[in-house]
This record gives sequence, structure tokens and C-alpha cells, in this order.
Amino acid sequence: MEEKHSMEEKHSMEETPPMGTRRIGLMGGTFNPIHVGHLMLAEWALDALKLDEVWMVPAGMPYMKAAQNILPGEERLRMTQLAILGNSRFRCLDTEVRRQGYTYTCETLEELRGKYPEDAFFFIAGADCLFSIEKWKAPERIFANCTLVAAVRGENTLPEMEAKKRELEERFCEGREIVLLPFLHMSISSTEIRERIRRGQSVRYLVPDDVLAYIREKGFYREKSE
Ligand code: ATP
Ligand code: MG
Repeated sequence: MEEKHSMEEKHSMEETPPMGTRRIGLMGGTFNPIHVGHLMLAEWALDALKLDEVWMVPAGMPYMKAAQNILPGEERLRMTQLAILGNSRFRCLDTEVRRQGYTYTCETLEELRGKYPEDAFFFIAGADCLFSIEKWKAPERIFANCTLVAAVRGENTLPEMEAKKRELEERFCEGREIVLLPFLHMSISSTEIRERIRRGQSVRYLVPDDVLAYIREKGFYREKSE
């Protein structure tokens, strides 16, 4: 696909979400590339928590992954847009990719709360997030602006997660609950997908077909540096 063409399509897909009192799931990630694990988790949360929509937020330059080589934000945004085509409940936000410098979840949440003060935000993440969020920038500003939803998917035991949930709630949440969301155990990761591509193995069905076509067209992940 020609670059100009893809840019035009990008803009046509980026309508500004309307205002209102809604339950909005937010899914942040590097999405390098987005895969069915991310999409299924978003769908699971949408269903279980009766969300109105889930907004995917590809990270610009995640400061925790700064030392790694990752594809440019525009390309990860493009793959995310392709992945959600056809699902009217999913949207893709470019706010982090557009931001200069490192991107921090607390800033994104504050920006969204400022823009959509009526809406309730649910930050959907894997269980790993429950154990790392204290090391993110300003966790208190994250918890002040959303309900954290952590997927329970087998790599941590439930009692371990419940203990961590209580600890974080006491420290940061002031009466607001953290949600532990029972999820499937899908051990798929973007790292695994990149490695499979590098080894010339198939990733069909691990990423949506449109994403796979774009990865192939651009030749992504075939070299070690990507
Ligand atoms: P990488 O291997 O590059 O770290 P990743 O597959 O972990 O990529 P991220 O973009 O880092 O994907 O993750 C975005 C969010 O999706 C995180 O909250 C992560 O915990 C969650 N996530 C990733 N893979 C899965 C999966 N298979 N099941 C449930 N949640 C997942
Ligand atoms: Mg990860």
C-alpha cells in the first residue's frame, strides 16, 4: 500500500468519540504487533463489565521499553486500526503516538478525563500490570482516574492476585475496587509473534488477516533489529 493512501485512510478512521455517560474500557499497549490475545481480552472485558466501548491506545514511546527496538508509533497505530476494523465497539486512539517524548499512562488518563468528564474509564491490562503498576509513573494519578481491570490468566495464582489487589486498593484506591477479570490462558505475546516471523514461521490466526497482510507488505519483523 502506498504511504499517502494509508495516511488518508488513517484519518478517515479517526472520528472523535462522542461525549456522554459511558463505561469506556481503555487498553494500552505497545501493540508491536497487536494480536488476538489483546483483542479477546478487550472483548472479554466489554462483555463482563458491560462496557459501551473499548478504546485501544497504542503507546508512543513507552519509557519502560525505551531500550528495545520497536516499530515506529505510526506503524503500530496502523496495525491497531486494521485489527479493529469491523468492530463498532472498538476504537483506536492516536493520542499517545502523537505525543512527543515518552508516553505515560497517567498523562493519557488525565487527558481523557479532561476531555470526557462524564465517562467512567476502565483500564484493562494483563495480570502482569497488577505487579508492575507501582513502578509506573505516578500510580496514584492512574488510580484517581480509572478502575483497574486485571485479567486473571494463569501465570499468577488467584490468592497472589487477590493479595496484591487488596494491597493496591488500600494504598491507592480510596474505596474504589480493582477488578480481577477471569480470562482464558492464552500464552501468546507480541514477542513470540515477532520471533516466529523472524524464523519464517506462520503467525496466521495469531493476528487478524488485515494485520498479517500489512506486516507482510511492509516486511516487518524479519530482521533482528525490529
Ligand atoms: P510484548 O511481548 O512485546 O511485551 P505483549 O504481547 O505483552 O507484547 P503488550 O502490547 O505489551 O503486548 O501488552 C498490552 C497489554 O495486553 C498488557 O496489559 C498485557 O498484559 C496484555 N496482554 C498481552 N498479551 C496478552 C494475552 N495473551 N492475554 C491477556 N493479556 C495480554
Ligand atoms: Mg508485554
